[in-house]
Amino acid sequence: ARARVVVVGAGFGGATVAKYLRMWSDYHLPVTLIEPNAQFVSCPTSNLVLGGSMPLSAITLSYEALVSRHGVTLRRDTVQAVDLQKKQVRTATGPVPYDYLVMATGISFDYANVPMAQTDAARARFPHAWKAGEQTANLARQLQHMRKGGVFAITVPELPYRCPPGPYERACQVAWYLKQHNPTGKVLVLDANPGITSKRPLFERNWAEHYTGLIDYQPGSVLTDIDTKTGTVKTVFGTWTTDVLNVIPPQTAGQLALDTGLANSEGRWCDVDFVTYESRNAPDVHLLGDSVDSGLPKSAHIANSQAKVCASGIIARLADRQPDPLPVFANTCYSYVDDNEAMHVANVYRFDPVKKDMVSAEGGGLSDKPSQQEAVDARAWAKNIWHDMLG
Ligand code: FAD
Repeated sequence: ARARVVVVGAGFGGATVAKYLRMWSDYHLPVTLIEPNAQFVSCPTSNLVLGGSMPLSAITLSYEALVSRHGVTLRRDTVQAVDLQKKQVRTATGPVPYDYLVMATGISFDYANVPMAQTDAARARFPHAWKAGEQTANLARQLQHMRKGGVFAITVPELPYRCPPGPYERACQVAWYLKQHNPTGKVLVLDANPGITSKRPLFERNWAEHYTGLIDYQPGSVLTDIDTKTGTVKTVFGTWTTDVLNVIPPQTAGQLALDTGLANSEGRWCDVDFVTYESRNAPDVHLLGDSVDSGLPKSAHIANSQAKVCASGIIARLADRQPDPLPVFANTCYSYVDDNEAMHVANVYRFDPVKKDMVSAEGGGLSDKPSQQEAVDARAWAKNIWHDMLG
C-alpha cells in the first residue's frame, strides 16, 4: 500500500508542506490536511487592520487551490488526540490513519502566569490578536471606540514568542491610527523584556521622529496584576490605567503537540532533527513552524522554509535516499511603521553538522530606515508567500 501523510494545521507550515509533498511526489503521495478554519487568515500584515489601511478581507484567503490544483484532501476538522502506537489521529468525525504525521499546529497561549480572570469573557475583553481573525477585528473595534485621549496598552511577553518585531509594529500601527483619529490618545507598551527585541534602533528612531508623545515604551514590565473591571494593570514597578488592553500572553507549542508528549524537557516547545524536522520524541512524526525550538525566529517565512525541508526529507525517505544534510533556511521580516513605509530584517541560516545547531550566515540585512519602496516589497513578500503556500 502507498504511504499516507496526514498534516495537522493549515497555517504557514502545514499548508506549505501539504502542497510541496504533493508536488515533489509528482502528485502520487496521498496527503490529508486537517484544519478547523474554513479560510486562512494571515498574521503577517494583520497589524495594518488596526492601523486602518487594510481590511480583514484582504488577508483572508481560500484553501480551494490546495484541493483543486494540488489534490490535497482537506478535512475541515480539529484533531483531538494522536495515537502514536496505532498511528492514527482522532477527530470529531472519526479516526484518520497515517504512515507519516506532520504536526503544524502553531502556538497555544499560556495564561497560567497572566494575572487576570481565567474566563473566556476576560480573554475576549483583552484580546491577544496574535492569531489573526475575529480577535484582530475585535481589537480594531476597541481601538475605533476608544475614548478621546484614552490609553491603548500592549503587553509583550518574554522571548521566545511568535514574531519578535510584531508587538512593536503593532505599536506603530496603533499610533498611526491615533495620530489621525484620536491625537490625544496614547499607546503604552508594557514589555516584559529588557528592551525592544527586534529592529531596536530602527523602532527607537522611528518612534522618536514620528510618534513622540504617542508611544510610551516601558521595558522590564513583567505583569503582576490586571483588574478585569477597570483594566488597570500592575507591573513589577508601576500601576497603569488603560482604556483598551491588548494582552499578548506567553506562548507554547500548539496544545496538541504538548498533549501528544512531543515537548522537550522544558515542556514549552518541541525538539526536532534539523535535517528532516522529525520529532526527537516520536518516530514518523514531524513538527514545523512556531511549535519547534529550532534555533530560528518564529516567523511565517521560517515556517515556510522548514516545510520545504520537511517535505524534501519525507520524499527522500520514501525513495530510500538520504535527506539533504545541510538544509538552508531563509527569513525576511517586514514591519510597517505607518500606511506607507516599512523596514526589514533578513537572514539566511544553515545547519552546522559539527555544532549540530543552526548558524546564521555572515552579514544579514537590516534596513537603514523605513521607506516607501520597502512597503512595496513587503506587499510583494506577502503575496508571494500566500501564493507559495496556497496557490
Ligand atoms: P499557524 O500559521 O498559526 O498555523 C497553525 C494552524 O494549525 C492554524 O490554522 C490552526 O487552526 C491549526 N490547528 C491548531 N490546532 C489544531 C488541531 N488540534 N487540529 C487541526 N488544526 C489545528 N511572520 C513573518 O514571517 N512575517 C511577518 O511579517 C509576520 N507578521 C506577524 C504579525 C503578527 C501580528 C503576528 C501575530 C505574527 C506575525 N508573523 C510574521 C508570524 C507568523 O504568523 C507565524 O510565525 C506563523 O503563522 C507560524 O506558522 P505555523 O504554521 O507554525 O502556525
